[in-house]
Amino acid sequence: MHPDGERILLSEETIRARVAELGAEISRDYAGKELLAVSILKGAAIFLADLVRCITVPAFFDFVAISSYGSSAKSSGAVRILKDLDCNIGGRHVLIVEDIVDSGLTLNYLADSLNFRDPASLRICTLLDKPSRREVPVNIHYNGFVIPDEFVVGYGLDYNERYRNLPYIMTLRPQIYEEA
Ligand code: 5GP
Repeated sequence: MHPDGERILLSEETIRARVAELGAEISRDYAGKELLAVSILKGAAIFLADLVRCITVPAFFDFVAISSYGSSAKSSGAVRILKDLDCNIGGRHVLIVEDIVDSGLTLNYLADSLNFRDPASLRICTLLDKPSRREVPVNIHYNGFVIPDEFVVGYGLDYNERYRNLPYIMTLRPQIYEEA
């Protein structure tokens, strides 16, 4: 494990197996259709890359970049789109692919704004779900792992931009936060 880590929550093998299951489930549900996966930069990029390779129906993908208004400690839920989608989603089957749903505010906002563009369907797939922290309801169709209320890094998730390239998901030693 990385020396800054406290505990591995999800190993590389565990993640790989679950991503394959999600890909198979999504492929069954979207049989005969084309899928447009929409991810939020940067955290979900690694999950998206692995997930689309486990999907057997034609899968396109695109990215949005967003930033939260207000202080980082308390998200207001209002987010600013820094980079919008390159493509038009009207009439398409859109699947939002997210790394983690925490308060739900980010995803709630994104789903609402994408719904205004009249997709044929809109579903949400998240690798991780922290339901104990939810502030607004989020309708998650595909859920990789329900995890406890702990801050995790790895597999795309960062702390100050670090640890995104770890192939597993771990918690951090408390000293790492204290040093920051
Ligand atoms: P929400 O709007 O659901 O509160 O925020 C979700 C976003 O918060 C995620 O996309 C992610 O960027 C960040 N986040 C929430 N929990 C964690 C965590 O445990 N680790 C990391 N690295 N980011 C998190």
